[in-house]
Amino acid sequence: MTANDVRRSELADNLAAVRERIDAATRAAGRTDEVALTVVTKFFPADDVAALASLGVVDVGENRHQEAEGKHAACLEAGVGGLRWHFIGGLQSNKAAAVARWADVVESIDRPKLVGALDRGAAERDAPLDVLLQVSLDPPGRDQRAGVEAADLAGLAARVEAAEHLRLRGLMAVAPLGEEPEPAFGRLATIRSEFLADHPGADLLSAGMSGDLEAAIAHGATHVRVGTAVLGSRPGVQ
Ligand SMILES: *Cc1c(COP(=O)(O)O)cnc(C)c1O
Repeated sequence: MTANDVRRSELADNLAAVRERIDAATRAAGRTDEVALTVVTKFFPADDVAALASLGVVDVGENRHQEAEGKHAACLEAGVGGLRWHFIGGLQSNKAAAVARWADVVESIDRPKLVGALDRGAAERDAPLDVLLQVSLDPPGRDQRAGVEAADLAGLAARVEAAEHLRLRGLMAVAPLGEEPEPAFGRLATIRSEFLADHPGADLLSAGMSGDLEAAIAHGATHVRVGTAVLGSRPGVQ
């Protein structure tokens, strides 16, 4: 076997194990809908993205514009098609228009300033850009991770609805550090049910990672974002 074959079979095994975890969690939650898997490929090379595509992966997630733009171009060049690229990282407004050029879904809108910048970038696309609003699950006064406060969610959603080239598809969240994911995703489910009353069509919920996907699925996640459990430890990251 070549090194490529070895890597591909490792990815295939990891994917099968993650898909099994997702299925088990979906059943345990008494759900009959399907939970989609976004494989987070940040820090890993375009070759891995190509191998994942050949294994049936459609959704891939990236968190840095420059790295992702390069991989997106490399995949196109190599004829790797059919992928949906999710931007899941902190977004600077001066990069937003550039992200709108290669991303199919932007999951991390957390402030009004990004809406206009993304909308201007998305104007050059053939189709509207799908977006999610990133909700903060940090207890008040302790915001370590990005996200809009629940109190400001309705206002941010209204801005996206008013943007001509953006399509509001739902919410995204990351469990806070140093807290059990269960109660955090419980809060998320409450925030989401209020949000859905105003935006019934925006019913995607991106939540859950390698360590906490079961808790997220129990609380209604429609998409989980999994990196480490599929690709292994990220190079240069503990
Ligand atoms: C890196 C990352 C993930 C994947 O995390 P793993 O623990 O490696 O599965 C998910 N969501 C976001 C926002 C990330 O930045």
